[in-house]
Amino acid sequence: MVSYKELGLVNTREMFAKAIKGGYAIPAFNFNNMEQLQAIVKACAETKSPVILQVSKGARNYANQTLLRYMAQGAVEYAKELGWEKPQICLHLDHGDSFELCKSCVDFGFSSVMIDASSLPYEENIALTKKVVDYAHQYDVTVEAELGVLAGVEDEVSSAVSHYTKPEEVVDFATRTGCDSLAISIGTSHGAYKFTPEQCTRDPKTGKLVPPPLAFDVLDAIMEQLPGFPIVLHGSSSVPQEYVDIINANGGKLPDAVGIPEEQLRLASKSAVCKINIDSDSRLAFTAAVRKVFAEKPGEFDPRKYCGPARDLMEELYKHKITDVLGSDGKLAQC
Ligand SMILES: [Zn+2]
Repeated sequence: MVSYKELGLVNTREMFAKAIKGGYAIPAFNFNNMEQLQAIVKACAETKSPVILQVSKGARNYANQTLLRYMAQGAVEYAKELGWEKPQICLHLDHGDSFELCKSCVDFGFSSVMIDASSLPYEENIALTKKVVDYAHQYDVTVEAELGVLAGVEDEVSSAVSHYTKPEEVVDFATRTGCDSLAISIGTSHGAYKFTPEQCTRDPKTGKLVPPPLAFDVLDAIMEQLPGFPIVLHGSSSVPQEYVDIINANGGKLPDAVGIPEEQLRLASKSAVCKINIDSDSRLAFTAAVRKVFAEKPGEFDPRKYCGPARDLMEELYKHKITDVLGSDGKLAQC
């Protein structure tokens, strides 16, 4: 048993309380490799933003859960080297799908876990979530739960259709499970193809797809039921067109990739939404930078020469998200 506190990590409780009060959201960035982690830590240290490092099922399969945990521990030390005296870094399990997995993360030094039982019937979701909460809270590890179903594909989490969270269920769910935050479904979606062209309209000037707006009425109704309760948005990449264009101009093929407009995420950040998950955008930044190097310098074979520019572009993306979308810059707690 390793406590996250020994590793210098923090849970989400204080982060979320401050974010709700301050009208901003904490970035939750997924990481799978060293370059991504370096970019996240550098961006957060420079902008003075708290951060949630997320480990998904796909990341665990790709990079190994043990290695990722030690990388997060390394991230704390790296942040200190960058002059971030008391790093506010949370290590979070993204989309945990069983009690055993959540327990293993709690026991291994994660400071926060998500139990996603949203695909189960309501009562089973409550029972499993409560079991995880009861275990995690013994060690002061915070728990995110999910109610409602997001569409899209994220690693091994996928659903063809979304079901908005029912506002009439949230009080019962939060009370009976004791969860610390709630991921809801209001129209965000996993992956780089969040909407089909049929679900969108087309901008007559640019020919680009315009996605349907988020269901802010559902969010408002949830906040009315659960005032001041931390809300989480998954699937909140905006799929920047500039990256898609670079990819497509350099041999890639991402037709009609579409995300959530940043203005809508900015608006959500000012509400009780205090954690916004961004994964696909950094994948796009990484791919755009790598494709550009390969197209311009076909003789390049040193991975540092293409992973380096990828890291730089991801760092730029993370800073932009923190400063211009989530508003978490300069929000390190005074402790
Ligand atoms: Zn997700």
